[in-house]
Amino acid sequence: MNPFIELGIRHDIVNAITELGFEKPTPIQEQAVPVLLAGSNDFVGLAQTGTGKTAAFGLPLLELLDFSQKHPQALILCPTRELCLQISKDIEKYAKNLPDARVVAVYGGANISDQLRQIRRGVQIVVATPGRMLDIIGRKAIDFSNVRYVVLDEADEMLNMGFQEDINNILSTTPEEKKTWLFSATMPAEVRRIAKKYMTDPHELTMGTKNTGNENIEHQYYVVRARDKYPAFKRIVDSNPQIFGIVFCRTKIETQEIAETLIKDGYNADALHGDLSQQQRDKVMRRYRDRSLQLLIATDVAARGIDVNNVTHVINYSLPDEIENYTHRSGRTARAGKTGISLSLVNLKELGKIRQIEKVVGKSFVKAEVPKGEAVVEKQLFALIEKVQQVSVSENHIDPYLPKIMESFAELSKEDIVKRFASLEFNRFLEYYQNAPDLNVDPSESRGSERSKGKSDRFGRDEYKSDYTRLFINLGSVDEFTRGDILGYICNTTQISGKAIGKIDLKGVYTFFEVENASVDKVFSGFQHIDFNGRSVRVENAGERGADEGRSEKRNRSFRNGDGGGRKRRENGGGGFRDFSGRRREKSRW
Ligand code: AMP
Repeated sequence: MNPFIELGIRHDIVNAITELGFEKPTPIQEQAVPVLLAGSNDFVGLAQTGTGKTAAFGLPLLELLDFSQKHPQALILCPTRELCLQISKDIEKYAKNLPDARVVAVYGGANISDQLRQIRRGVQIVVATPGRMLDIIGRKAIDFSNVRYVVLDEADEMLNMGFQEDINNILSTTPEEKKTWLFSATMPAEVRRIAKKYMTDPHELTMGTKNTGNENIEHQYYVVRARDKYPAFKRIVDSNPQIFGIVFCRTKIETQEIAETLIKDGYNADALHGDLSQQQRDKVMRRYRDRSLQLLIATDVAARGIDVNNVTHVINYSLPDEIENYTHRSGRTARAGKTGISLSLVNLKELGKIRQIEKVVGKSFVKAEVPKGEAVVEKQLFALIEKVQQVSVSENHIDPYLPKIMESFAELSKEDIVKRFASLEFNRFLEYYQNAPDLNVDPSESRGSERSKGKSDRFGRDEYKSDYTRLFINLGSVDEFTRGDILGYICNTTQISGKAIGKIDLKGVYTFFEVENASVDKVFSGFQHIDFNGRSVRVENAGERGADEGRSEKRNRSFRNGDGGGRKRRENGGGGFRDFSGRRREKSRW
């Protein structure tokens, strides 16, 4: 008998998922489906993405809902638009043979009237991001009084993004007696608190050990000097010619810069971050899914909810600010039973962070060596040979040219021809890697011996600062600026190049930014007598005041800045949790 039938799923649904290639349940499905099908328990599942959790809750929902009724009976809340679309599409596929089942995806950044129309037409399953959901509830356009099941998917991410209050408000419109099913990749105290608040005696399921990442992921780290980070990264990519990877950066600017440099260097790469329009992001994602792109360079926020199978490598170009994000990043590889590598490029100072992540992930990381130049060249050569072996030849089309081609090669031996073909691509790498230095740093070296005064690597951020002056400007995210916006605004106002600007630290009512020493005067003179929305713009040397002001603002700032979908708030990092009593708590930073 089909194992899904044994779990209690009806034939119509099993037929649909069989077409999707689901032959047997994944471990989480095997364990969660029978519990959820009983329909009588609250539920907490600690599971990574890629484990099949959408079906683990989606299949029981399809069994439990009454599709002859047209009102919302299940509400699934998730953190991002991408995940929202993914879940709704997946459930629609499972429900292919249930003609009365209606699923609607409700998310920000898209036309609300279409979503309202779909709701009006009748729907049993609503999949939503909290911001837009609240908007629709506020318009009194949906009635949740008959909701029987609420799923909180990627609960830790929703908290990370500051959605607690929204979730509170949404859930207050659903009946007391509904069942709540919570899924989370990690179980920080905040998620535990949610579970306590919303659930009665939930059935708990932990896939693998607590907070343990997917067993199929190998975690590696490379120790390099900050200024060698980009060349080391290129070497790693070059020595994996079949790489299909996601490269994580910490900021939008770094993401954009790395992507642009990679493209210039001939790589098949593009950037995904919050300064792109929705259309641009969709386009990049389409190209990545189609594998027209080999490397997706992304910020944590933009990459949330990305569900692309067969990602071979997750590359932590910069380690995440919050440890929990490492788990989210690495979960983008080794999906659906595949294996994958999550690798991090670190300098000596960051080794301690690796040890901390190891503790959270519950696995030792392997120290890997940046390949030597010759090894990269050899890898590339044999990748080329394999390509030649596997290329399909279109006989009809090439035949007419063959006599001429043969004539051109008449003088050459087979060996000569092979050498020349191989050299076509090979020369590029040979040239680049000739006399390439060893980029590895021995972790037993003392920190002091790291060549930390250098400034040759564009992306070795740590080593840049001495050439920059940190300035303060009295504009920030409350003025609707993103980091990208403020960069553009400063450049336009002062006529300095974006390249002269270093790190930008966007706060609520002000921003710190670094400017190359040579351009500081130009910034001061450019901002004389400038008004923004009737307010006089002030630029000052940040000097020592920065750290203190940053801290005090963090304590005082409110999360809610009225942007509905919360996109801007999230892209700017949030920076902490607020618990249910409204107190702010700091996240586990390094
Ligand atoms: P999820 O964790 O829900 O994002 O699922 C990860 C991937 O695994 C998705 O591409 C699913 O389509 C796939 N998947 C889920 N369940 C199964 C199954 N039982 N057999 C094969 N693939 C599955």
